[in-house]
Amino acid sequence: MKFLRLKHGKEGFIKLVEVLFSILFSEEYIQCKVGVLFPMEAEESRVAMLTLLTVADIEGKGRGMVASQSLQAGQIILQESPVLIYSAFPLKQPPLQAATSSSFQYCAHCFRNLVGENGGGGSVAVTCPSCSHPHDTIFCSPKCHSLALASTHTPWVCQSLNHLRNCPSLVADQADERQVQARFLVAAYNLAMVSPSNFQTLLSLDGGMPLNSEEDTAAILYLNSLISGLPLPEGISAPSLQLTAALLAKDKRNAFGLMEPFSQNRERSVRAYAIYPNASFFNHDCLPNACRFDYLDTAIDGNTDITVRMIHNVPQGREICLSYFPVNLGYSERQQRLLDDYGFGCLCDRCKVEANWSNKDDDDDEGEAMEEEDDEEMGMSAGLDEEETEIELGGDDNFPHAYFFLSYMCDRNDCGGTLAPLPPSCSGGSNVMECNVCGHLKSEEEMKCES
Ligand SMILES: [Zn+2]
Ligand SMILES: [Zn+2]
Ligand SMILES: [Zn+2]
Ligand SMILES: [Zn+2]
Repeated sequence: MKFLRLKHGKEGFIKLVEVLFSILFSEEYIQCKVGVLFPMEAEESRVAMLTLLTVADIEGKGRGMVASQSLQAGQIILQESPVLIYSAFPLKQPPLQAATSSSFQYCAHCFRNLVGENGGGGSVAVTCPSCSHPHDTIFCSPKCHSLALASTHTPWVCQSLNHLRNCPSLVADQADERQVQARFLVAAYNLAMVSPSNFQTLLSLDGGMPLNSEEDTAAILYLNSLISGLPLPEGISAPSLQLTAALLAKDKRNAFGLMEPFSQNRERSVRAYAIYPNASFFNHDCLPNACRFDYLDTAIDGNTDITVRMIHNVPQGREICLSYFPVNLGYSERQQRLLDDYGFGCLCDRCKVEANWSNKDDDDDEGEAMEEEDDEEMGMSAGLDEEETEIELGGDDNFPHAYFFLSYMCDRNDCGGTLAPLPPSCSGGSNVMECNVCGHLKSEEEMKCES
C-alpha cells in the first residue's frame, strides 16, 4: 500500500499539485485511495469508534459501512471532526439590516452562533483586523482566532476572500451557489498548504461520476480562472482544471450541511458545510438504521464534530445507512434529489415498494399525488393509531415501513427529524428518544401512549 506523503509549506504544495495532476485519474490513484481511508492524525476516539464499523464493498453501491459487531439502539458508532469546513453564505456583503441582525453573527472558525444564550459572548469576540467586511469574519474567542490563523483563516484565506468579494463578476453576476463554491475552493487550496495530509484525505473521497453537464463545465471553467487569478503565494502555480473539477465533485458528493437550529416559522438553512472522511462512507437508505446529530451551538468542545447514532439494534454484518435528507420526503422527490446531488437512483426496500405506488397512482399528476403522500406520512407521525394507518395506506403489505414512521419520526409539525435513543448507559438501553433536527426528547412511555 502506498501513501502519498509531502512536507508542509510552499514546496509541498507545488509538488502536491504537480503530483496530483499526474496521478489523479490514474490506476495508481485508485490503489492510493485505499491507503488514505483514514487520516493519519486521527484522534484516538475516532479510531476507537471505527472498531464498530468496517468499510466494505456493497453490491451495486460501491463502498459502504458495515457493522463489525452487533450494534445497539442509541449507540454512538462514529464521532469525527471535519477535515474541512467552510461558510455556506455567499460572498457578497449581506444587506446592512441582515448583517447587523443576530442571524449573521457566527464564529468564522467554529461557526457557533455569537448571540443568544448559547453564544460565545459578545465581549470576548474578536474581529479579523485584515478583512474588509468584519461581519463576515468574527471569531467567538481569542482562542478560536488564533486557531483560525493557523488553519481556516490564514493570511492567504483572508487575502483571497477579500479579493473575491471585490470581484464584480462573482458577487454581482454569479449565483449564490457559485460564490459558496468559490469559498470551498479557497478552503481546499488552503488545506493543501496547511495540512497536506488532510488535503490527501479530501482527494481520496469518492467524487462519483465527473461533473459534466453544460452548466457544470461552465462553472468549473469559471471557478478555475477565478482561483487562478488569486494572489497565489510566491512559487505556487495556478491549480489545474482537473484538480478544480475533482475537488468540486468531491465537495458535492461528500459535504454535510451544518444546519441552523430548527424553527417552526422558517425553512431550515445551512450555516456551514463540512467534510468528514469516515462519515462520508455511509450510503443512503430511505429507511436508515442510523442518523447523524450535530450540536453546533451547544457542544462545549468539538462543536463541529459529527455524531452518528444507531436508531435501532442491528446484527453484525448489516450495512449501516443514513438518509441524506428528511425521511418523510415522497418517492419522486427522493429519487430526484439523489440523482441531482449524488448521481444515483435509490433501490432500497422502501423505494421498491413506493415505485409501484407511483406507477399506479400518480401517472397523471405526480406532484399532487406526492403531496398527498407526504401528508399521509406527516399524519402518521402526528400519532394516528396503527389500524387507521393501515386502512389509509392499504394494509402493511404495501407499507412495510409504517412501523418506522410510527417509531422513529419526530411528530413535531414541519420538523421531519428522525428519532434515535440517547446513548445507552452501562445499565442498559436508553428509553428516551432524541430528535436529530429539533432536539425534542421523548420518553418511551410517551410513545406507548400515542401508539
Ligand atoms: Zn469559535
Ligand atoms: Zn481576515
Ligand atoms: Zn430509497
Ligand atoms: Zn423534531
